[in-house]
Amino acid sequence: MARARDPIADLRRIAFLLERANEATYRVRAFRSAAKALAGLPTAELTERAGNGTLTELAGVGDVTARCVAESLAGEEPVYLRRLVATEGSDLDAEATALRAALRGDCHTHSDWSDGGSPIEEMALAAVELGHEYLVLTDHSPRLTVARGLTAARLRQQLDHVAQVNAALPEGFRILTGIEVDILADGSLDQDDDLLARLDVVVGSVHSGLKDERSKMTRRMLKAVANPHLDILGHVTGRMVSSRPAGVTGPGDRGHRARTRAESDFDADAVFAACAEHDTAVEINSRPERQDPPKRLIRRALEAGCRFAINTDAHAPGQLDWQRFGCERAALCGVPADRVVNTWSAERLVAWTHDRP
Ligand SMILES: [Zn+2]
Ligand SMILES: [Zn+2]
Repeated sequence: MARARDPIADLRRIAFLLERANEATYRVRAFRSAAKALAGLPTAELTERAGNGTLTELAGVGDVTARCVAESLAGEEPVYLRRLVATEGSDLDAEATALRAALRGDCHTHSDWSDGGSPIEEMALAAVELGHEYLVLTDHSPRLTVARGLTAARLRQQLDHVAQVNAALPEGFRILTGIEVDILADGSLDQDDDLLARLDVVVGSVHSGLKDERSKMTRRMLKAVANPHLDILGHVTGRMVSSRPAGVTGPGDRGHRARTRAESDFDADAVFAACAEHDTAVEINSRPERQDPPKRLIRRALEAGCRFAINTDAHAPGQLDWQRFGCERAALCGVPADRVVNTWSAERLVAWTHDRP
């Protein structure tokens, strides 16, 4: 009978999968040792021992590994391997779930004061239901006129309104004030300094000139990141990986937008180094059509020592539950919870935004 599978390769594969799933070392070693012990055996002896049940007489081979070898020699995928493959990723799911559970708020959301679909009160109540302790309201800044960006006067009105809404919200939850301020062509921020200083959290994003050439875009971003008012750098590359989900409106979405958009070109290492230096958090934007930054850049920001904020950029209450998507990508890149600013309490978050260099 022809050998359909290589039992040694199957044992090694199992060891690899166990290791990747962060299983105990002794379990990984059991499969590696068996693979090593059997690798030197002539095929005829291997088949004979599997047939008469004497594989376990060999040092390093136990019942489980012997059974895998027998199944493999019979041309079947070992049951152990099949189960492992079937449940692959479950540990990662657990990590993403743990990260999501550690989040205590959302630092990037919109209301119908700019281009969101719902009143502030409704967004807040949805956040309460999700178990958040805070929601940072970050409507757009004046020059993003397509998104009804707030003038300084309207933002002042909004601050008064938020104070009233907060007074009526349940104990233990509050709306934090904020803005998603446009990073202008020269890297300055599109709102008055005194207002930016007054807000709890400032997210800054590039919404125009996304095709600026590399050195210009890098300069623009570096200047913004160095601005002491900027706490979080929003959707870093500006990319769109798919069209908007049905029924979802957002900045610039008037039914005739391009389906996808390439990443902006900038020196990511320089920008992330500046984020680390100025303690500006890098946003992991959870929107399905953005998925920004891409994973390779999340890894680089992590290596650079940056903090992160896992945000939804929600424009409607239901979208506040999209943090899960950002958590999945963060977990895939190994972002630990203690590097994520919205795992902090509102008090700690606001202390951080006000004390940053
Ligand atoms: Zn934005
Ligand atoms: Zn936004």
